[in-house]
Amino acid sequence: MTNDFKIACAQIWSLRVPLAEPYHLSKLYGTLTHSDTVIIRLTLANGVVGWGEADPGGIECDGETIDSVVQTIENRARLMLGQCVGDWVESGKGRDFHGPAAAAIDVACYDAFGRATQRPVCQLLGEQCHDQIPLLWPTSCGSADNDLAVIADYYDRGFYTYMLKMGDKPIAEDITRIKAVIAQLPDNVRVMVDANQGWSYEEAILFSRETELLPLILIEQPVAAADYEGLHRVRKVAGCPISVDESIQNFSETDLILDAEAADIFSIKISKNGGLANSHAIATKVGRAGKQVLMNCMIELGITQAASLHLGCTLDNLVDCGHAYMSTQRMADDVTDFSDWIKEGIVTLPNAPGLGVNVSVDKIKQYQIGEFHVS
Ligand SMILES: [Mg+2]
Repeated sequence: MTNDFKIACAQIWSLRVPLAEPYHLSKLYGTLTHSDTVIIRLTLANGVVGWGEADPGGIECDGETIDSVVQTIENRARLMLGQCVGDWVESGKGRDFHGPAAAAIDVACYDAFGRATQRPVCQLLGEQCHDQIPLLWPTSCGSADNDLAVIADYYDRGFYTYMLKMGDKPIAEDITRIKAVIAQLPDNVRVMVDANQGWSYEEAILFSRETELLPLILIEQPVAAADYEGLHRVRKVAGCPISVDESIQNFSETDLILDAEAADIFSIKISKNGGLANSHAIATKVGRAGKQVLMNCMIELGITQAASLHLGCTLDNLVDCGHAYMSTQRMADDVTDFSDWIKEGIVTLPNAPGLGVNVSVDKIKQYQIGEFHVS
C-alpha cells in the first residue's frame, strides 16, 4: 500500500447543533433538543481527507458522552498517525474497537480510502444492491392525535413508514394510542413502535397481546437491553417481528441474541455499532441467520447518515419499509449536504468517491464547542 495513504494529521471538533423541534423519547431518555456530535477529519500524506462522526447516545443508551468521546478519539487519533487507511479498511481493523469514537475513526478511514482510490464507500463494503432507500419518519412520545397530525404532514412529503416512540406513558395509553392511530391510517402507510426499553416485561407482554392482530411492521426494544429471555417471550406472543436496538451494541452480542432467539430484526446504527466494519459484520451475520436489518440512526449529522446509506445500499436483508435516513431533516442545520440526497421521502446514493458527502468547515465552526489538532 502506498505511503501516500498514511495518516499525516487529524482535526477534531465537538459540536452542538439544535434540533428543529424537541424530541420526546421514553421515560428513560427524556427529551432531546440538540445533537451532541464529535467530528474528525483525517488528512493523508497526499492531502486527501476523510471525515468521520461520533454520535454519543448518553449514559443510559451507550454509556458515552461528548466528553468521553472527544477524549477517546484524541487518544486513538494520536496512535493512528502514520498508519495507512488502505490497510485499516482492507484488514477490517475497525472491528478491534467499539462505540461511537471507534465509529468516527473507522468511517473517516473508509471515506479517505474511498476518496484516495476514487471508489464510493459502498464498493469497499460489498456489492451494491440498492441505489435508493425509502425513509421513515419518527413521532415523539405523545397522543394519537399528535401522531396523526405528523403523519398527515409528512405523508404529503412522501413518507409512508412511521416509527412511533412509546414507553413514557402508562401502558394502557400506549395500547389505546396505537389502536387509534392504526384505525385512521391512510391505506399505504405502515407503522412500527419503538419502546426504547421503556416498558417492564409485563407491560411488553400486555402490549404485544393487545396488538397481536394489528399490522405493525415491528416492535423495537420492548424490554431492557440485556433481557434476552424477556425478548424471546415477547416474540412468542407478538403478532409482528421484534427488533433489537439497545441490545445490539457490539458484534459479540450478535451470537448471544441469535442463540437466545431474542430478535427477528436488528437495528443497526453506524455510531452505536462502532463504525462500518462492525456494522457490516453484524448485518452479514444476522443475514446468514435469516434475520433482517433496520437501518436506524441516532440524532446525527450527514457524515454518519451518508456512511449508513452506503452500508444499507449493500444489504439484501433490509426490512421492507422506510429506514432512518431522516436525521439531518430533523436538525435545525447540518454541516453536510446529505439532505440534498433526499427527495420526496426517498434517499438516493450518489456515485462519488468516499462517502460522497460535502462537509462545510464553516458550518462546523458555527456550532463548535471544542477543537483539537493531532499531528
Ligand atoms: Mg430504537
